[in-house]
Amino acid sequence: MKSVIFAGCVAAALLVGCGREAPVGGAAGDAQPATLAWNQGFTKELDLDPAAGLVDAKRGFIARPGGKILAGDGTLLHDFDAYAFVDGKAPATVNPSLWRHALMNAQAGLFKVTDGIYQLRGFDIANITLVEGKTGWIVIDALTARESAAAAMAFANQHLGARPVSAVIFTHSHVDHFGGALGVVSASEVARRKLPVIASQGFMEEATSENVLVGTAMARRSMYQFGKNLERSAKGNVDTGLGKNVVYGTVGILVPNVIIDQPSQELDVDGVRFVFHNVPGAEAPAEMTFAIPAKKAYGGAENLSQTMHNLLPVRGAKVRDALRWANYMQQALDQLGDAEVYFGQHNWPIWGRERIADFIARHRDVYKYTHDQTVRLINAGKTPREIADTVNLPRSLREHAGARGYYGALRHNVKAVYQFYMGAYDGNPANLDPLPPQESARRYLELLGGADKAVAAAQAAFDKGEYRWAAELLNHAVFGDPAHQPARELLARTYEQLGYMAEAATWRNSYLTGADELRNGPPKKGVDRSAVIEMLYHTPIERFLEAMAAALDGPAAEGKNLKVNLVLSDTGETHVLWIENAVLHHKRAAAAADANATLTLPKETFIKMMAGTARAKDTLLSEEFKVGGSRVDLVRFFALFDKAPGTFPIVTR
Ligand SMILES: [Zn+2]
Repeated sequence: MKSVIFAGCVAAALLVGCGREAPVGGAAGDAQPATLAWNQGFTKELDLDPAAGLVDAKRGFIARPGGKILAGDGTLLHDFDAYAFVDGKAPATVNPSLWRHALMNAQAGLFKVTDGIYQLRGFDIANITLVEGKTGWIVIDALTARESAAAAMAFANQHLGARPVSAVIFTHSHVDHFGGALGVVSASEVARRKLPVIASQGFMEEATSENVLVGTAMARRSMYQFGKNLERSAKGNVDTGLGKNVVYGTVGILVPNVIIDQPSQELDVDGVRFVFHNVPGAEAPAEMTFAIPAKKAYGGAENLSQTMHNLLPVRGAKVRDALRWANYMQQALDQLGDAEVYFGQHNWPIWGRERIADFIARHRDVYKYTHDQTVRLINAGKTPREIADTVNLPRSLREHAGARGYYGALRHNVKAVYQFYMGAYDGNPANLDPLPPQESARRYLELLGGADKAVAAAQAAFDKGEYRWAAELLNHAVFGDPAHQPARELLARTYEQLGYMAEAATWRNSYLTGADELRNGPPKKGVDRSAVIEMLYHTPIERFLEAMAAALDGPAAEGKNLKVNLVLSDTGETHVLWIENAVLHHKRAAAAADANATLTLPKETFIKMMAGTARAKDTLLSEEFKVGGSRVDLVRFFALFDKAPGTFPIVTR
């Protein structure tokens, strides 16, 4: 499988990926008989005729964009034609239910939702919603990148007539909803024209801090979830569940100046009455939904999309609260009023009061059923893997395409509920202290008589369509004998079949990325935070100090007692940093007289250094900062911190 190579690779905390050398491995395989049979099962069980769904996905169509969105340096960020192959009947290599969903998400363009409300879809993974205010556009959400947001706004103004931005609303704290804010309107224009920038309580802290601590690992794993480096093809990336493509461009943020801090709160926004509802701690730590009563419209942010959502993304995150999520759905039903259109910030809208209520109720019950049945089985003594193989939704929920697992997956969500209440340990002492994967793999291979034997057994399983078992065997073979090429190739072929069968785009992308990396290795270049620096400037300095502490090389720091005063010359803050018991501590306090050194520099320079866009050594030699005390001790201090490149292997060792 060919890799798409991105030259100017960027990193929004959750989303990152990077260029690498030309692929060397085998080609993608065709769908095997067992895969075809599995996929046919979906055709039998579900009504996969896309016609009815396409009525909604195409409704209100005004214009379709074409061509490409490029970065300032000419790097390709988004190609509107990349998914042109998603058309017609499902190929053998794509789960037909996912294919149907991918057809809906392929409807990119500018759409009229209802009088005075428009949406821009397919410019990025999320949507921009525009509401006609008295003096200009009320812009709801801003996509991931400045480039995609600017392209979407230009497209709207071209087709609807140019109007200024009169307000910005951020529905929640995930980067695909605010990262492009500076492509919608500049911070200076917001200040000059006193424009409202509206968000819910906690938005700014959550938005700017979400991935600072484990951003490197989440970024690396998100490449699997979003299939970033996969070819866009019937044997590659066809969708992400929430939309087509994440635009890995320049990420920024606007600081909100109107905070929604009540459970429900009315607000006149440029002559349009909004009723906001705070729904924190379900899909995102800070999130709000809203009604626009005069337009009979209800905006569900991302709590409600045209797919079952993640209780735990495969990229990794804190587990989300299924019960709270279900409760918010019930509240949404109560808040709906006489809404005639529902729209979210992903996928496409739904029209008709009854259909909307039905849609919300089924979403509510998908989460509630998942939660309740998992808890029932936990109390019956079942473990996560057993529960995942047991729980299935009732037919009334299964048959509802709008809540099937295209982004989240039931089997993964069940494990998330288990983890939420019980943790990762299943209670069986055999799993209390198992060997690390490579150690047990080596011993299993010894027992089997070597990797060749494992591959032979796995081939027999593969031929019978027992891909999960083949994958388990081959994972041992690859980890236990990393140089064994036939094991790697057969595992790649196995992951491909699992990818072709997967209904969830996130699972498909994970399997196919696994196959790709077995053949071509992990990416050569990892996280580059330079693209998110405008967002990081707004991150509280404490988050960076926590991340810095978590980058301290513990063994190297053992026995070292160093104290550094950090003085931010522009903000006037002073933090005392000290190492004690191989742990880095920090507190906001007056400079300590007994510190080994005092480092004085502007906050931006410190953040560049922490974000890895400026090397500590360069910073320490620059004119921008002053050192008091021992420069040698300061260098010794900074030498104790790791910088993870974010290229770690996942399917190989
Ligand atoms: Zn989103």
